[in-house]
Amino acid sequence: FRGRKLIVHIIPFENRRQILVTHDVTETERTDMMRRDFIANASHELRTPLTVIVGFLEIAASEQLDKDTRQAHLKLMMEQGHRMQHLIEDMLTLSRLESLDHPMRAERVDVVQLLQRVQRDAQALSTGKHEITLDVQGGDVMGSCDELYSAFGNLAANAVRYTPAGGRIDLRWEDTASGVRFVVRDNGIGISREHISRLTERFYRVDKSRSRETQGTGLGLAIVKHVLLRHSGTLTIESEPGKGSTFTVNLPKSLTASPAQLAAHAA
Ligand code: ADP
Repeated sequence: FRGRKLIVHIIPFENRRQILVTHDVTETERTDMMRRDFIANASHELRTPLTVIVGFLEIAASEQLDKDTRQAHLKLMMEQGHRMQHLIEDMLTLSRLESLDHPMRAERVDVVQLLQRVQRDAQALSTGKHEITLDVQGGDVMGSCDELYSAFGNLAANAVRYTPAGGRIDLRWEDTASGVRFVVRDNGIGISREHISRLTERFYRVDKSRSRETQGTGLGLAIVKHVLLRHSGTLTIESEPGKGSTFTVNLPKSLTASPAQLAAHAA
């Protein structure tokens, strides 16, 4: 029982004997702590943009502003509003993924179509500042189209957000001996070793201000982790500060679509 927290009840029994009932509450306490941390972090993340919005509204209510200043304030308020919107969307996605009564709906995923959408979104985010390539060699898979889109989209968006203008991002899909693999490689800012194992924790960021500047919610990789858990997949991160990062998703063979499944879904 080392390292575990037990609650022991001693219940008197007949003939001066006693019954000992023990409850192991280690996991319950850990879950409670994670929940408390999540609520504290989420409240803090929402409070920051809200403070900016309320601040500007107070100024607008008490002062006569010229047109240009008013426009500038409105723009800033809109940005903060969008930030709150993104955060709430990510929180809802994460909570949907975690709820046990919402099993994954496996369907045939048209990988070319899915990855072209991911590439287009990344290009839109990049606004032409990066070269973004796509190479699809592997076959289709069975899984949740929406969930895989959200996981792959988050990885590609991160590559754009953490790669300075002029950088290069390669998206690759290929078969492996044990299934399929999706690789996102960038030549961006990279991540030092001590951060790598913590990146999929909710709200964990290497550099908070950079994440905020680029519209990060701190939940992207937590979403990726949960999607992969539901698809029996794994995420590997290799990175070198200043050189770039490679995020590799491996999905098992059981998810690769057999010819019979493909035919059934095409029918
Ligand atoms: P965020 O919304 O802050 O990007 P994520 O959960 O998606 O949150 O990522 C967590 C952190 O991991 C980021 O804040 C960033 O520090 C780091 N990170 C993720 N992807 C990359 C990447 N491709 N290059 C460098 N750092 C990255």
